[in-house]
Amino acid sequence: MHRRGNGRFWGRKRGDRGKGPPRDRPTFHSRNVYIVAAPLLFIFAILRIIAYQLWVVLEILVGRSKAILPSACLPNQKSKYKCQSEAEEGMSGAAKASVGPAAPALATQKHHHRKAFEYISKALKIDEEDSGRKEQAIEMYKKGIAELEKGIAVNVGQGQGDHWDKARRLQQKMMTNMVMAQDRLDILASSKMWKPMKQPLAVHKSNTLPRNSRPASTGGSSSATSSPARKFSHQRQHSQQNPGARPKKDLSSLKLKNIDKKLAETIINEIVDTGPPVQFKDIAGQDTAKQALHEIVILPALRPELFTGLRAPARGLLLFGPPGNGKTMLAKAVANESNATFFNISASSLTSKWVGEGEKLVRTMFTLARELQPSVVFMDEIDSLLCERREGENDASRRLKTEFLVQFDGVAGSSDDRVLIMGATNRPQELDDAVLRRFAKRVYVNMPGKETRKSMLTQLLAKHSNPLTSDELSEVARLTEGYSGSDLNALAKDAALGPIRDLSATEVKTVDANKVRGIKYSDFMESIRRIRKSVPADTLSKYEHWNQEYGALGV
Ligand code: ATP
Repeated sequence: MHRRGNGRFWGRKRGDRGKGPPRDRPTFHSRNVYIVAAPLLFIFAILRIIAYQLWVVLEILVGRSKAILPSACLPNQKSKYKCQSEAEEGMSGAAKASVGPAAPALATQKHHHRKAFEYISKALKIDEEDSGRKEQAIEMYKKGIAELEKGIAVNVGQGQGDHWDKARRLQQKMMTNMVMAQDRLDILASSKMWKPMKQPLAVHKSNTLPRNSRPASTGGSSSATSSPARKFSHQRQHSQQNPGARPKKDLSSLKLKNIDKKLAETIINEIVDTGPPVQFKDIAGQDTAKQALHEIVILPALRPELFTGLRAPARGLLLFGPPGNGKTMLAKAVANESNATFFNISASSLTSKWVGEGEKLVRTMFTLARELQPSVVFMDEIDSLLCERREGENDASRRLKTEFLVQFDGVAGSSDDRVLIMGATNRPQELDDAVLRRFAKRVYVNMPGKETRKSMLTQLLAKHSNPLTSDELSEVARLTEGYSGSDLNALAKDAALGPIRDLSATEVKTVDANKVRGIKYSDFMESIRRIRKSVPADTLSKYEHWNQEYGALGV
């Protein structure tokens, strides 16, 4: 106990010790403190209650005003997070309670995504029109990117459930879109071919050809009659009168602006397919795929006026399945039967043969596809270009992928362009979500069944006067269970060499072609030992599974 110098304990005389009651009696000092402090404490308590009430009222008012004006958020970095929480707060308490915390986040994301979509669509339109309004396109891209940033910044958390899943998927999509838009913006900003608009649009006339040269029946302008697309359409009609002849594309008749003429020429020579036309009847089996393609592509191409609005044909179509079963043949047949210019490129050649030029090539190819529409752009092995984004992926392939998606969206975004993008892949599981979304129709091109194998063999042997009996063909078809179309082709070629193998080297040089014996069943039996199937049986179940999950079933 603390002892004071005046011989008293604090508040008590020495003699009071042990007497009890004086302990509760307030001292003079404590009474003074109490008299002064009590009113002050009371006033503070009142002020605190008033402040709290004011804060509650302000919270409610601010919350309501943010719900009405969620777009008032500023696009700078700091406000991204502020904006997110504000918009989340903007949802009414009742709504929050009924749908859980994921719904406000999703609503906020959707709001920004929709705005971004509007801006970027405008930007793409200006960008594609190439009318010299570079500054305007740049501004639209920037606005779109700012909206995407806000949408991406929304906290989608680790929660479970449908809303959270949707929110996370949307966030992924926005990230992909943002990369694409940013890349496009960079290209545009550094592009030398663009000239900023110096005069008002009305007097700044573009020399570019009308991109959407439509046939008169679909409401195209009168200029369409002299458009390049029209010219090529005439050429196609001409080629139909001369079966086997493919129209020769002539660049000189096109007034292509702002594209590399050399590259365009290379595309015309190497990518635009002028090989012998393939018809659906050349393809054995694949009835489901053929029917799907007929409905999705051929009918809309033949009767465009019937397929408008919600009936507008899909712009992206994916053919997937084990290798060598006619995906390329189907794509060629689609182009041929819908009278379209066929651009045939493999994605792996873009990353190997066209190193460094890939992006430019993709851009030029799509420009040409629009000019020469109706067109089918067929990209084989699409998985090698559009697989899921991986960490450590190099910049060039990322840019190439982005360019492809931007061009894809450009085509898909225009209701007038008649450009179909067909992708083919043996590894559909590896495709990016963003890519899957764009290929809305996914058609499974499966392994041939016994009857298809038989008819394929019959077709292949037709050039040799069908030397096998129906029973022999059935037996070969039975023994070739698990063979792909391409394996059967290889088998038939090998069997056809049987009669030549019977000859000596000198005989081969001198023998009369008519004296060579015909192909026999035994040749096939020999060849079956040499030419084996190429598709492992266990991979087929993966395709089946993927088809069940993502494919166009029951077409
Ligand atoms: P990949 O996935 O390896 O690119 P693909 O599925 O595109 O293969 P195609 O290139 O169309 O296969 O076909 C390869 C060859 O196999 C064709 O040239 C053709 O000779 C033969 N073939 C495959 N399927 C069929 C079929 N259904 N009818 C006739 N021939 C076929």
